[in-house]
Amino acid sequence: MTETIQGGCACGAVKYQTRAEIEFSFNCHCRKCQRATGGGHSSAFAVPAVEFEISGAIKEFASPSDNGAVTYAGFCPECGSPLTSRTERFPERIYVHAATLDEPSKFRPTFVVFAEAAQPWDLPNDRLADAPR
Ligand SMILES: [Zn+2]
Ligand SMILES: [Zn+2]
Repeated sequence: MTETIQGGCACGAVKYQTRAEIEFSFNCHCRKCQRATGGGHSSAFAVPAVEFEISGAIKEFASPSDNGAVTYAGFCPECGSPLTSRTERFPERIYVHAATLDEPSKFRPTFVVFAEAAQPWDLPNDRLADAPR
């Protein structure tokens, strides 16, 4: 039996839930994630977009990634909390920022993405593997 995963933004205007199986979980140190989160990296997990339910409106910031595909950073328009991310490259998938979970301690990242972009004050977790490429 899969359990329901729930979370939301800081002000409570946006909430989400899914009963989907998490596909994978990771820490990303790319500059986009640094800017979007205001921290050294983002921690996120991927679930199938069709099984992800959002209540409340999110706003999305669209920008091209290095490979040309447009990525969308979703955030709460009221409080600005980063919530989701998605890319044209994998439209069937949505990435969710782990700290927005109601129970964030259940997040289990297994690999690191863009370790080479890490800041010296937020080094990649060396207990995690590098991204599968
Ligand atoms: Zn909010
Ligand atoms: Zn990133």
